[in-house]
Amino acid sequence: MSQGQLPPTHKAVRWYPPSFDIRVVEEDIPKIEHPDDAIVKVKLAGLCGSDLHIYRGHGGIEKEHSCGHEFVGFVVKLGDNFRPKVEEDDDRPSLYGTLKVGDRVVAPFTVSCGECHVCRVGYTCRCPSGLLFGSPFLGGGQAQYVRVPLAGATLFSLESPQTISKTLSPENIKNINDASLLLLSDILPTGLFGAIQVLNHPKVKSVWGGKGWPGVFLPSSPSPLLPRGQGWGPVGICALVSLLELIWSVENTSNLYREFKYKIIAIDLLDSRRRKAEAVYERIQHPAKGRNGDVVVLGGDVDDLKGKVREWTGGVGCTAVLEAVGHADALELGVELVRVFGAVTSIGVHGAGQIPFTGRQLYNKNISFDFGRCPVRSMFPAAFEILVKRQDVFGEIGTESSLIDRITGLDEAPEMYRQFERGDVGKVLFDPWK
Ligand SMILES: [Zn+2]
Ligand SMILES: [Zn+2]
Repeated sequence: MSQGQLPPTHKAVRWYPPSFDIRVVEEDIPKIEHPDDAIVKVKLAGLCGSDLHIYRGHGGIEKEHSCGHEFVGFVVKLGDNFRPKVEEDDDRPSLYGTLKVGDRVVAPFTVSCGECHVCRVGYTCRCPSGLLFGSPFLGGGQAQYVRVPLAGATLFSLESPQTISKTLSPENIKNINDASLLLLSDILPTGLFGAIQVLNHPKVKSVWGGKGWPGVFLPSSPSPLLPRGQGWGPVGICALVSLLELIWSVENTSNLYREFKYKIIAIDLLDSRRRKAEAVYERIQHPAKGRNGDVVVLGGDVDDLKGKVREWTGGVGCTAVLEAVGHADALELGVELVRVFGAVTSIGVHGAGQIPFTGRQLYNKNISFDFGRCPVRSMFPAAFEILVKRQDVFGEIGTESSLIDRITGLDEAPEMYRQFERGDVGKVLFDPWK
């Protein structure tokens, strides 16, 4: 494909304020606006839980805009800064020298420059030049074409997978469909991010490492590891799979950690999501599954689940809580269920203006918090490896245990938003050419 053959208009999904108004429109096709830009022809785009915050009018946004921050596709146009490497480009991200029209790419849900201090230490989701796809400031991926600013630092090219992770080969990539690659835009790295934050928190590590924290508090018989998840939608499932992969990889490879026992309690108030979580766990085949711990799915009656947590932990509470939805009620329950000196990680976008607990409550339990957006670029290589390993969960579409429920055309977007908002469908992808 050569540059300059694009039509004048394309189809895109747009959101209109104040809420619940999604339309599919024909609009001007995005153009190269800066020499670092690329135009990507979208193969598949995702509908995500974060889109619902905007859909419901909870995003604090008053301007209509095109939607979607998850997409995979092919490069169809490149700005002038994409050229064979010359001396003055030495410090620039390498894709500015190698990306070509026709290359298959995945985009993280935010743009990042790759050149500032924030990006270089890995916090790419908070790059000062960063932008969120599908916001008033940048067009979305639920469209036929999308403009990617700072594309040489933002996109991942699937043409040379070893540049992403040394363990990946072109053979690995060939067997992975576009639908499962799309999960790398956001939800699988985000789930992994939550799992890493939970397991690496010093207060949690002390429990499963049996070393005590900060050293002088070594308990005589360390409590079981009890990460507890809330909101087991697609991101929650990704977090669950990532947690298991991390726990099993440590069990297999590290002598530093004793053989620890764990129980992962997955909580969701929706029946359909609990059934999905159970089916996913059932589907996973791994030699370490069930050896030192298990996954239990709970929901429905909140008093009942609180009682079970008390019983299983001898009244102590969960070592860690992973709150995957971004809801004040879920966070409040997390604070209640986490143990003293526990850690709460929250990876969902919070719409509520206030946090539902006081400083005194946190002081009284010595609770630590992690909030915030996933730096997809930093998580991408490890997430990609999990994607390749767990094709039993991520590679299928529309089965009982698959993460992706269905692929529809863009024209069905208004109905899919409605159904997704009600919890009637799981992860939906759009094929803009269907
Ligand atoms: Zn998303
Ligand atoms: Zn940056």
